[in-house]
Amino acid sequence: MCTGTTPRTSFGRTEGGQSLFSPSSVLQRHVRGVVRGATPVPRTQWPAQIARMTVSPRRVAIVGAGAIGLSIAWRLLQRGARVTVYDRGPLGRGASWASAGLLAATAGHGGPAGTPLDALCRRALGRWDAFARELTDAAGIDVVPRSEGTLVVALDAAEAERLGTAYEAWRAAGDDAQRWLARDVVARLEPALAGTVVAARLCPNDRQVDARRLVAALAEAVRRAGGAVREHTEVDVERVDADVVVLAAGAWSGSVPGAPSIPIAPLKGQMVALRPTPGVTPLRHVVFTRDVYLVPRPGRLLVGATSEARGFDTTVTAGSVRLLLDGARRAVPTLDDAPLDDAWAGVRPMTLDGAPLLGRLTERIVVATGHGRNGILLTPVTAEAITALVLDGALPSWALGFGMERFG
Ligand SMILES: Cc1cc2nc3c(=O)[nH]c(=O)nc-3n(C[C@H](O)[C@H](O)[C@H](O)COP(=O)(O)OP(=O)(O)OC[C@H]3O[C@@H](n4cnc5c(N)ncnc54)[C@H](O)[C@@H]3O)c2cc1C
Repeated sequence: MCTGTTPRTSFGRTEGGQSLFSPSSVLQRHVRGVVRGATPVPRTQWPAQIARMTVSPRRVAIVGAGAIGLSIAWRLLQRGARVTVYDRGPLGRGASWASAGLLAATAGHGGPAGTPLDALCRRALGRWDAFARELTDAAGIDVVPRSEGTLVVALDAAEAERLGTAYEAWRAAGDDAQRWLARDVVARLEPALAGTVVAARLCPNDRQVDARRLVAALAEAVRRAGGAVREHTEVDVERVDADVVVLAAGAWSGSVPGAPSIPIAPLKGQMVALRPTPGVTPLRHVVFTRDVYLVPRPGRLLVGATSEARGFDTTVTAGSVRLLLDGARRAVPTLDDAPLDDAWAGVRPMTLDGAPLLGRLTERIVVATGHGRNGILLTPVTAEAITALVLDGALPSWALGFGMERFG
């Protein structure tokens, strides 16, 4: 790693003069070439260890200070890159701010069991606790996710049948943790749920996190690691002073000045927050129904989320709020008496297949966007994959297949 704790003062040597690697003929030929003005050995032919140790820190510009851009910045800084994150607005006010923060890989946000997106989502879920602990330590802001899991409930017989089929598919895909719960068990677990609940699928491994806190923690970790965050600064990708540019501008990634065009579209989502209904046991689990999801937070219950093709519009509308509240009341009838706390909207960055776009666009431009409904869930693995691509020259094998090539 180029930022090893051993101080380096000269080419491949420690302060004590010890050689950090055996001199290689490739390296020597390269150096001779540079010194004599002859053609040096291309860096791509250097042994990986030497390439990493001898290159001066990579200067990376990241376009977009949402969860994705900031997490990549943090990981790159940890490996010694010099990083500046640019946002044309205030940091973290895009989709990451609007997000419900569900890490709902097994409740079905990652699509049907067994797809490449499902595999990526489940990998991300497995990484989340360690990622959150490390970030909490680095930033001094607690982002350890809640771990009660998700209850996917069926409110009538037809839904129960659909849910049963999904449950079998997940079990067949190797998820042994999921449980099928009968009506009386569900009622004991969550007494506030409607008496019409027929059955539920418990996904105990799912998590949830406050996405706004996550962004605050990432921004703080970036600053503490020596990175710069430039808010209210629009950049031209062709002109920005950097060796590598990472395009992480969420739903706006297709229209960043100087960047190649990419197939990303905004998908609007509206959400509502309620305060607890007096005298009613609050939910502990995240609850999914066919219509909505309910996310318990301290002193709040989030209800989400609509999916609307309305361009970049983020107006909160009466019709969508009504749909969300109707869906919430169907699951928890006592919510009729809950005080209304807030409502907001954001735009998810969507690709044609709902999976993220991760990879190289040109020699100098890397893309990390299109996370759709799963950007918060996919934050740790995206940061890991893009850091490897920028600093080691290749994506890890598990992140292959999410590039532009899949769109022909
Ligand atoms: C209502 C809703 C609920 C959601 N719930 C969940 C959930 O429960 N779980 C989950 O995992 N995901 C959820 N998502 C999706 C998730 O929020 C996104 O996938 C994720 O936040 C995307 O992060 P990002 O950093 O790519 O984009 P953003 O957070 O949108 O950040 C992009 C940033 O780029 C900046 N930018 C744009 N153009 C430029 C430019 N030209 N130059 C510089 N900066 C620029 C923007 O100002 C913005 O700050 C939800 C999304 C919505 C809208």
